Amino acid sequence: MALEILPGPALASRTTLRLGGPALAEVVLETPEDAEALAGTLEKLGGAPLVLGGGSNLLARDGELPLVLVRPRLAAEPVILRQRHGQQVRVRVGAGVKLQRLVAWLATQGLAGLAGLIGVPGTVGGAVAGNAGSYGDATGDRLARVRLWTPEGGLVWVGRDDLDIGYRRFAPRGVTGLFLVLEAEFDCAVREPIAIRQDMIAHLKKKRASQPITAATAGCVFKNPPGEAAWRMLAEAGFAGKRLGNMAFSELHANFLVNLGGGTSDAALDLIGTAQGAVRELCGHELELEVKVVP
Ligand SMILES: Cc1cc2nc3c(=O)[nH]c(=O)nc-3n(C[C@H](O)[C@H](O)[C@H](O)COP(=O)(O)OP(=O)(O)OC[C@H]3O[C@@H](n4cnc5c(N)ncnc54)[C@H](O)[C@@H]3O)c2cc1C
Repeated sequence: MALEILPGPALASRTTLRLGGPALAEVVLETPEDAEALAGTLEKLGGAPLVLGGGSNLLARDGELPLVLVRPRLAAEPVILRQRHGQQVRVRVGAGVKLQRLVAWLATQGLAGLAGLIGVPGTVGGAVAGNAGSYGDATGDRLARVRLWTPEGGLVWVGRDDLDIGYRRFAPRGVTGLFLVLEAEFDCAVREPIAIRQDMIAHLKKKRASQPITAATAGCVFKNPPGEAAWRMLAEAGFAGKRLGNMAFSELHANFLVNLGGGTSDAALDLIGTAQGAVRELCGHELELEVKVVP
């Protein structure tokens, strides 16, 4: 079956930071098997492929972008596969499902381990690909295996022993180029639903008080250096509320870059570079990007 192809999608309409010019095209996958037609389709379309989930960790450049967006919209709802060792339960879910849908569903099932991710936008696939984490929980800590597609290997299930997983890092071993996360399986612990829900409410309350969750942002711009908080260093360097054009570091959380409306990627990248320089000078730390700049 032919894949669904949309012409000229604007990255600004596909990303939560609301930045980025038009890509060449967008290819939508509805089932894992759709990936089998992908290599030929990408070759015909030209341009560099960019896998896109919810676009909540991307800073896309302005102007015409030589990219083809690949959107794994695999919407298979979470299901329990089997109980393991009495207390561990394995759950499978499609990569296109919203992470929030999975987190809420796990709570109703009394399954713990990802509740800290309440409030993190985007898809399950994007969370796995970036090892999203919050309040002590990270997708990589619970990941049992993933179904991947690569141009070289096609469709394959990969166990966690063959995945390089770390702080905001996920890489299938031996894969250097394009890969798509299509489905994921997590091993979750059994816990009282009410206790999970209470934790989630407490996390959300803290998030609302400390992050600009309703603004146009891409979450944290920089990773935390070991044992340090990037937001604290940025605030000490005077970047909380620092504005250039219509882009600014949030006053509430200095590691969140906000598009105030009509911001540009040039202003965003300028602010990022200036902040890195100031923190290097003040604290001697080289802040590494958490947000992905594309292309
Ligand atoms: C308000 C706010 C709060 C946030 N809080 C947190 C937080 O607490 N913790 C945290 O870790 N992040 C946080 N983020 C960042 C972001 O939400 C996460 O990184 C999220 O998991 C990204 O998922 P996504 O589907 O939007 O991925 P995208 O932004 O679409 O993509 C991110 C990267 O993953 C790749 N990718 C996406 N889907 C796939 C796939 N199926 N297969 C292969 N590669 C793929 C993309 O190519 C890209 O490199 C926050 C963002 C916002 C806006």
